Amino acid sequence: MRILIVEDEIKLADMVSERLKKEKYTVDVTNDGETGLYNALDGIYDLIILDIMLPKVNGIEILKEIRENNINSKVIMLTAKGELEDKLLGFQNGANDYISKPFHIDELVARVNVQLRNNNNEKKDICYGDLILNIDKSIISNKNTKEEVSIINKEFQLLEYFMRNPEQVLSKEMIYDKVWGMDNESFSNNLEAYLSFIRKKLKLIDSKVNIKSLRNLGYKMVIVDE
Ligand code: CA
Repeated sequence: MRILIVEDEIKLADMVSERLKKEKYTVDVTNDGETGLYNALDGIYDLIILDIMLPKVNGIEILKEIRENNINSKVIMLTAKGELEDKLLGFQNGANDYISKPFHIDELVARVNVQLRNNNNEKKDICYGDLILNIDKSIISNKNTKEEVSIINKEFQLLEYFMRNPEQVLSKEMIYDKVWGMDNESFSNNLEAYLSFIRKKLKLIDSKVNIKSLRNLGYKMVIVDE
């Protein structure tokens, strides 16, 4: 699940980002309204945490614009304490929730979780072939042999993306957008490394599921019948 934070208080934005990453979300951060709007219009975010007072384009304008463009990302607005008008404007323009500053990070995380759980039952296990990804426990297991191994962080996100799109060719660019986002420094060297870790784990639990490399095209999750 992918979250965009649009917040010009850099420390606050980073703090929220770090915490949400620990909750296994993929997080992008922008610190001004213009970039925030540009990114939000990508439509790739499950949820956007949107400050109202922002340089260049304010949060309400961003919200209007993305709803006019039929972007259905959940939106949680960050409002200044007591600014009732901001809250009402937010709801009128399609915000899903708001939280007043200053807030406790745990409350924000709880609200994020509620929005994303309402959205879809993403917390359920994902299955493909003999492979089960348990989202809550960060474990993959083999349905037949019951063998299991833990899988975390980027490996987890990468495998989740493949398991949600099995038997489809996923290009490096698609993987980059979905799993790495703007955190692009580490991308190009690491994708192959992460995939090889994942393949090892799949082998470890004797799964018939594998991720094939397709030259110049990308990668595909398949069931290998020997
Ligand atoms: Ca602000």
